[in-house]
Amino acid sequence: MKKIYLDYASTSPVDKKVLQEMMPYLKKEFGNPSSLHGFGQRARAGIEKAREKIAKFLNCTPLEVVFTSGATEANNLAIQGVLRNLVSQCLETKFLGGRPHIITSQIEHESVLSPCQALEQEGVAEVTYVKPDKEGIVHVEDIEKAIKDNTVLVSIMYANSEIGTIQPIVEIGAVAKKHKTLFHVDAVQAAQFLDCDVKKLGVDLLTLSSHKIYGPKGAGALYIKEGVMLNPLLLGGGQEQGFRSGTENVASIVGMGRAIEEIQNPRTALLNIKIRQLRDKLIKEILRRVEGSSLSGSKQKRLPNNVHIRFQGIAGQELATVLDQKGIAVSTGSACSEKTQEPSHVLLALGISLEDAMSSLRLTLGKYTTLEEVEKTIRILVATVAQLRKNLV
Ligand code: PLP
Repeated sequence: MKKIYLDYASTSPVDKKVLQEMMPYLKKEFGNPSSLHGFGQRARAGIEKAREKIAKFLNCTPLEVVFTSGATEANNLAIQGVLRNLVSQCLETKFLGGRPHIITSQIEHESVLSPCQALEQEGVAEVTYVKPDKEGIVHVEDIEKAIKDNTVLVSIMYANSEIGTIQPIVEIGAVAKKHKTLFHVDAVQAAQFLDCDVKKLGVDLLTLSSHKIYGPKGAGALYIKEGVMLNPLLLGGGQEQGFRSGTENVASIVGMGRAIEEIQNPRTALLNIKIRQLRDKLIKEILRRVEGSSLSGSKQKRLPNNVHIRFQGIAGQELATVLDQKGIAVSTGSACSEKTQEPSHVLLALGISLEDAMSSLRLTLGKYTTLEEVEKTIRILVATVAQLRKNLV
């Protein structure tokens, strides 16, 4: 039985074209890109070509793209890097004896929330976690209200990994600029679907991850606008202009470049329309056929591939497990909260009750999802919810 994969927000399979471009760097072009001989220089050329592709996608210069091991590292580099740079330069005095202030939201990914919390605990920064509305939208007015004299950084994700809500990034960017504070955007889930032109968005720092866009795991990138100062997390050989020491993951970086290039292919826009249509069918049919089901997040401002539904009285974890046994891979939220089996911080921030939050299922579609798979998923999901409810009585 062919398995159905509906967990593209967790990770995506590597595109064949991406793998093809990577293969030489896993075989004959194995050189260390810091070496001066031909092997090294050919590996270096592979990295620089990938950097150019990413710079084109972001509408920035290649020098403004720094490769990392993934988005977790890029988010940490952005947040810790900016704050630790301020501290190392003894600029605290500028904050009238206080600490520099960060604004983020309650529904960010853990790789943004955890460094913010760590900086707070260390006494390096104070942080405001802005609450979203019931649909999971962070309002620009709330960001502006939170800005203080000592605010140095605003970090808001482009699109939410669990419920797919799309944030008003251009508006938030304009407010950040008006108040002369840096603006960081985690664009991991958005990159496949939304415009990531850093000039249009008005961002100073932007995070990307390769494995969410049909590239390999182990590569990510941080856009650092020219002139933005940050301290590296890793010290050593000074690779990536000193922002990220360590021998580069050449094959994965090359793969990430190819994956980004593919997003810009006009074919991708057509595929995204198909994904949106399949998503709409899934949402419509599930809500129509399953009593006590409700959609989380926004109907309009939603990623084209995200379906997040709560099923009254059902344990999301159990539903996901049974669906997996029936050949359908879905998740209950983000891969991280799935491990801890705790209610999602995103759903709680939306004001959803604890019990309701535990009854959710996230189905995320991708470019290989077919109409047949969607129809089969609807059939099996409807029957499984009915079965689980019957077991309860
Ligand atoms: N940010 C968001 C919005 C994500 O969805 C994820 C992964 O799920 C990450 C960051 C972390 O990405 P990576 O796996 O590349 O570290």
